[in-house]
Amino acid sequence: MKVLSVNAGSSSLKFQMYEMPEEKVLISGVFERIGLDNSFYTIKINGEKIEKKCDVKNHGDAINKLIDELLENKVITSLDEIKGVGHRIVHGGDKFSKSVVLDESILKEIEQLNDLAPLHNPANVMGVREFIKAIPSAVQVGCFDTAFHQTMKEDRYVYATPYEWYEKYGVRRYGFHGMSHRYVSERISEILDKEFCNVIVCHLGNGGSISAVRDGRCIDTSMGFTPNSGIVMGSRSGDIDYGIIQFISKKTGKSIEEIDTDLNKSSGMLGISGVSSDFRDIDKKIGEHHKPSILAHHIYVNSIVGYIAKYFVELGGVDAICFTAGVGENAPHIRRMVLDRLSCLGIKVDKKVNDEIRFGKEGIITKDDSSVPCYVIPTNEEVMIARDTANLI
Ligand code: AMP
Repeated sequence: MKVLSVNAGSSSLKFQMYEMPEEKVLISGVFERIGLDNSFYTIKINGEKIEKKCDVKNHGDAINKLIDELLENKVITSLDEIKGVGHRIVHGGDKFSKSVVLDESILKEIEQLNDLAPLHNPANVMGVREFIKAIPSAVQVGCFDTAFHQTMKEDRYVYATPYEWYEKYGVRRYGFHGMSHRYVSERISEILDKEFCNVIVCHLGNGGSISAVRDGRCIDTSMGFTPNSGIVMGSRSGDIDYGIIQFISKKTGKSIEEIDTDLNKSSGMLGISGVSSDFRDIDKKIGEHHKPSILAHHIYVNSIVGYIAKYFVELGGVDAICFTAGVGENAPHIRRMVLDRLSCLGIKVDKKVNDEIRFGKEGIITKDDSSVPCYVIPTNEEVMIARDTANLI
């Protein structure tokens, strides 16, 4: 069965086509700068990567070009072969605790959550509507970034703010990166060959979040009402004292919206180092003994260690700690800095193996006598979407 896994952003469209249940990727790619000058797309097929410049006016246009590519490359011979399209949808609020088959009434329910994710949900829903138009015979499925965290209990998701903010406006912890946390926690359960296990999943990418997972169910996570809370990120602050917002507004005359942008786009590793939000750029500066970059690393590691320690206690001990996403998969020095700080728990990193596991490799990075085994597990949100879509079909 052929299934498309898609992620529609405001000016981009990422896609993978899978043969299910084998989970074989037949073609993948991304359309970028949709609706802007110099739009282009890249496709990967049979180990080859091709970039094509072309005018892509809107998402409908991108989908038509995608269908042409599928036909030209003989990935499909007719549209009927595409049995399902799975869509990543950022916010499911507390309405959606798992993936669902989409129709117009569900799309309207998702639109009611637009206030919670104004930058993402409208683009996600628009993508779904365009796919319904282009491939009406396919089952459309919505997979929510928040859904995996819906198993958290009230005492973990309610903030200590006036309770009516929660009741009237839905102000609570939601958590994000759910498809990734779910993928990694399912994979570690397979690796350990244990259905019931306590794991901490560290999704360290440009955005980052950490989850405590018991028996495959999330019990706590570091991102909150928005994806800006929790650990330090590429350009987001993570947890801060909210009093800073009013203070900076008074000092600079900036509006709440402007300060929000600063906290999202000019903070985190970029804000501290003044160099970049990308760890590769910061690492180069560390080689030159650039003090703000060294400080950024330490603050980043502190924030991760703090959440791991908290979740270790919340879970009452763990069976594994897992690292995933851009930094977690590819930056052994960050993993080592984090795990060295956890040596008081009896965790012992194997420096040689840790250095070797990167660029898509999966494996254990701790010594045999480590109290807790720690793993690198490359994430795969796209395959989770394809699995849910195939299952719902
Ligand atoms: P993601 O959001 O999961 O795609 O992660 C992207 C981030 O991973 C980039 O912004 C980098 O900070 C980081 N990253 C990717 N490759 C490397 C690498 N080889 N070494 C260090 N950091 C990396």
